[in-house]
Amino acid sequence: MNKFIFVSGGVCSSLGKGVAASSLGALLEGRGLNVRMVKCDPYINVDAGTMSPYQHGEVYVTDDGAETDLDLGNYARFTSGPLSRANSITTGQIYDAVIRKEREGRYLGRTIQVIPHITDEIKGRILAIAKESPDNDVVIVEIGGTVGDIESIPFLEAARQMIHEMGRNNAISVHLTLIPEVAGAELKTKPTQHSVKAMQELGIQPDVLICRAPVMLEEATLRKIALFTNVETEAVIVSYDIDTTIYQVPLMFYEQKLDQIVLKKMGVEIRHADLSAWYAMMDKFNARQGRARIGIVGKYMELHDAYKSVYEAIFHAGLSCGVVTELVKVDSARLEAASDPDAVLGSGGSSPVDGVLVPGGFGDRGIGGMVRAASWARTHGVPYFGICLGMQVMVIEWARNVLRWEDADSTEFTHGTAHPVISLLEDQVDVQMMGGTMRLGNSETRACEGTLIHNAYGNPVIHERHRHRYEFSNKYRKDILDSGLVLGAFTPDNALVESVEWPGHTWGLGVQFHPEFKSKPTAAHPLFTAFVQAITARLQADTP
Ligand code: GLN
Repeated sequence: MNKFIFVSGGVCSSLGKGVAASSLGALLEGRGLNVRMVKCDPYINVDAGTMSPYQHGEVYVTDDGAETDLDLGNYARFTSGPLSRANSITTGQIYDAVIRKEREGRYLGRTIQVIPHITDEIKGRILAIAKESPDNDVVIVEIGGTVGDIESIPFLEAARQMIHEMGRNNAISVHLTLIPEVAGAELKTKPTQHSVKAMQELGIQPDVLICRAPVMLEEATLRKIALFTNVETEAVIVSYDIDTTIYQVPLMFYEQKLDQIVLKKMGVEIRHADLSAWYAMMDKFNARQGRARIGIVGKYMELHDAYKSVYEAIFHAGLSCGVVTELVKVDSARLEAASDPDAVLGSGGSSPVDGVLVPGGFGDRGIGGMVRAASWARTHGVPYFGICLGMQVMVIEWARNVLRWEDADSTEFTHGTAHPVISLLEDQVDVQMMGGTMRLGNSETRACEGTLIHNAYGNPVIHERHRHRYEFSNKYRKDILDSGLVLGAFTPDNALVESVEWPGHTWGLGVQFHPEFKSKPTAAHPLFTAFVQAITARLQADTP
């Protein structure tokens, strides 16, 4: 079985298209189908790797080292199909491939045009996902952007062609829109009508509508939307606002029979639905008690999406530890400027926290604040989790404050330092091109017996994903080890330090890789769980 579902969006961005597509994926998996998720991004960047987190949020990294759109993180959290470079398609990649073929003379003298050459390249990539795994049943293709955008037209045209060529029982359109509430008036369906018209002008009749609305819509409103859009009333699904968690969305859609409607339209036999993992997750959500305040000390604090997977992984760990995790976002530049970190992070401070997490990042802005946060956590016995840059910050802080090398730094931030405790990876020295050239993707790490990292995984062999150019400098291994910092994990050839730990501390761990990419609401990541457990244990010990 090879069915295709194209998920597009209208009216405006940020309606939760990624969550809607992923939730549909989760429901179809719950019906026993093998689902693959694909994101089409209309931007001209080849991948998200060169984009600032302010522009596009977090860069999600796959096992094979692709730097992709953060929606792939949603797919990974809601569904279980494999994700690789092939699951993220951008306009940049498509044009790059077509222009290369043209230069190779593979179009045999023809004029290269958007239709058919660009659209064929898009279709070829979507079909390749289905072909790559023979057990695949459904491919869900999320088309980024909003209908009406110039950039997304070739992707929607490719979807139109596929629906036309394969027939409506093999390829369908799911369109997401907004039902806004105008102050003092009722809910407005007009933007949805216009959005569907825009789809129809492109030759696509949506089969299913998912309407983002503040509340569940009344039957009369659903019927009105159906009448104006040529969509059956039962296929108008409402994604209404909830104050629980986005992970309830699959269950919200299930109650409105979204999966049954989609399967019926595609002529697929409807099997028993097993959503027990999602119901169990909601039970855990409702049973949480007490709270753990986790300070995220980073530089991209204004934009929630910049550390998306980290925030989600913390939430998952809270579910598994039975505690409400509260994110306290601390701008590292502000902490750097504060007179005393305790006045910010301490129990009487302006942003009191029970644990500190320093996430990944690039560039020198705010590093001083991160070093201060690490120093404060280390000397106050507060659990600390450093991820990638956050581990490098731990090493810099230790070198400056324990070894008393006041100029210790990463060569990313200071070139002439006498103590470059973090320096460029050897194979990065001659790198000129910025895109896709870091140490990227999955690799093996070996944890040493008796360390926090080994205890958390319960296994010495670890597989995690990387995205960095700098590393712990091996020339300082001996001095740093002698001063007491624990080097807890290495690459199997012992060439790179992958993890450091504070000795005799409640829980202070830094890892050079990105564990956040592998955490799921139904299976929290062991390192995040260990971190949150350490926080709750300390809070309980402090409670008289
Ligand atoms: N900027 C650091 C490096 O390149 C850390 C990268 C990260 O945190 N992802 O090594």
